[in-house]
Parts: sequence; structure tokens; C-alpha cells
Amino acid sequence: MEKEILIFGHKNPDTDSICSGLVKEKLSKKLGMENVKAVRLGKVNKETKYVLDYLNLEEPGLVEELEEGQEVIMVDHNEFNQSVAGIEKAKILEVIDHHRIANFETSEPLSYTARPYGCTSTILLEEYKTRGIEISKEEAILMASSIMSDTLLLKSPTTTEYDKKALEELEKIAGVDIKQYGLEMLKAGTDLNDFTAEELISLDAKSLDKNGTKFIIAQVNTVSIPDVLKRQEELENAIKKEVESKGLELFVLAITDILNSNSEVIALGNRIDAVEKGFGKKLEGNRTFLEGVVSRKKQLLPNIDKNI
Ligand code: MG
Ligand code: MG
Ligand code: MG
Repeated sequence: MEKEILIFGHKNPDTDSICSGLVKEKLSKKLGMENVKAVRLGKVNKETKYVLDYLNLEEPGLVEELEEGQEVIMVDHNEFNQSVAGIEKAKILEVIDHHRIANFETSEPLSYTARPYGCTSTILLEEYKTRGIEISKEEAILMASSIMSDTLLLKSPTTTEYDKKALEELEKIAGVDIKQYGLEMLKAGTDLNDFTAEELISLDAKSLDKNGTKFIIAQVNTVSIPDVLKRQEELENAIKKEVESKGLELFVLAITDILNSNSEVIALGNRIDAVEKGFGKKLEGNRTFLEGVVSRKKQLLPNIDKNI
């Protein structure tokens, strides 16, 4: 058999990375591309597990390293430092993404769909529509799950009109009360008790690099910030280890209250000034409360990045 084309989202996969990968596989097959397979670059989180269990779907297989020349389709990311080991030597056939483009280079031409939407699945829905492909109930729920996860039920400032319209359309096909389902899905992801501090800080961590200054912005969702802060000391110790072992200048952990749309951030490293300047606030006890901040992409990253 011909070697399969692998489809995957970023490391520390979130619901969009897993579900958009699965949807892209299904869409490609409907378009006659048979030898495609969605895979994952890390552990499926509890929120995503809720979606897969709801739909009775198996987790995609884990891939940790690519062989040279492996054909791939990237969804929900493009930066090589957020991708799989060996990505530099892979043959990237296509990218479908809604993030900034950075740390990315190919030696051959490719299909690249970038849209400034709130979610990869919103772009995929457009692809179904422009190609006149029918959307199954399962595909609709996968895409709706991605959209509600990435936009925190359309409340995040990353939400665009396209995402709102997409969710409306998908709800009709899904035939479920999508907001009710979405809230249950998000809540499933906030059960953090059985994670070690090390796991917690890496569940949804993005590695970033600005002109050689390495930093990480990690995020956890919760329904109670004080609950997570009970473990502040333990979390800080895990962060310090990470800063040392990876040679980071900064580690930011955003603890995001998904019900009230605020975040408390813990920041450690030599460049905490970038957080203080970015938000005009002084850290006290290594942390500060950021009213109305829920989005890494639109709020945390740009404000921190411009001060690094
Ligand atoms: Mg993502
Ligand atoms: Mg996404
Ligand atoms: Mg996310």
C-alpha cells in the first residue's frame, strides 16, 4: 500500500487540533483522497475526550517523529516548534490554519489556507460548502466542538462573525442544543485534580521564540481560579524546572475562568517585565489578575510578544 498522508494539529493537542484533523480526513476521503489518516502529536485532553466519547470515536494514533519525506497535512498550526519532530524534512502538502505564520518554511510549493477566523473548523466548513460536499451529523458535531472550544462558546475576542455563522449552521445539522453540549464539553476539560503540576503546565502550552528569546505561554481552563491557585507553589516549582531545562526567558501560565471570562496569570523567568509592561500591571507573588483576558492568541501573546 502507498504510504499514508498524515494529518495533524499541534503538539499538546486541543479540541480544534484533534477534531479538525478528523474532519479534514473525512473531507479528503469524500473528495477521493483515500490514503489520508488523522493522527495526534500528544495526549488527548479531557475536553476532547468528552467529544470523542460523545461520538463514540477512537482517539487518533500517536505520532512522535516523522521520517524524511513523509507527506503531511498540517491543521491548526504552522510553526515548526509547535509541530512534530522531523517536520523540517517532511513534505508538507497542505496547511489549514488560523494562526500567525512564523517559524515555517518549505522547499516545495503547497496549498496554504490561512484565515483570521476563531477556529480551523470554521475554515473547513467553508471548504465543504465551496466544494458542495454534504456534512454528516458527526462532522457537524466535530466542527462545532472545535469552534466552541477555541472561542469559549463564542465569548473569546478571537470570535469572528464567520465562527458565529458557522456554529449556527452546524447546530442545525447536529440536531442538538449545541450551547448546552458545548458547556458540558468545556466543563469536562476543567477537571484538573488528577493532573500533576508538571502535567498541568504542559496540557496546553505553546512554545514561542522571538529572535532567540524562548518563552512559553500555557493555559488551563477552570470554573474556579481559587481552586487552581491552591496549588500555586507546586505549579511554580514545576514552572521553574521547565524554565531551567528548556532555557526559557519566561513562562506564563494563564488560569482562565471560562464562566466569567477572566484570567489569573502566574509568570516566572528573567523577562516577567514583558508581562508587566504588556498589561500595565505589577506582578504580586508572581501573579496578577487580568480582567477580560481569555485568549492567548489575541490578548496574551501579542501583548507579551511586543515587549520581548
Ligand atoms: Mg489549537
Ligand atoms: Mg484552533
Ligand atoms: Mg486553544
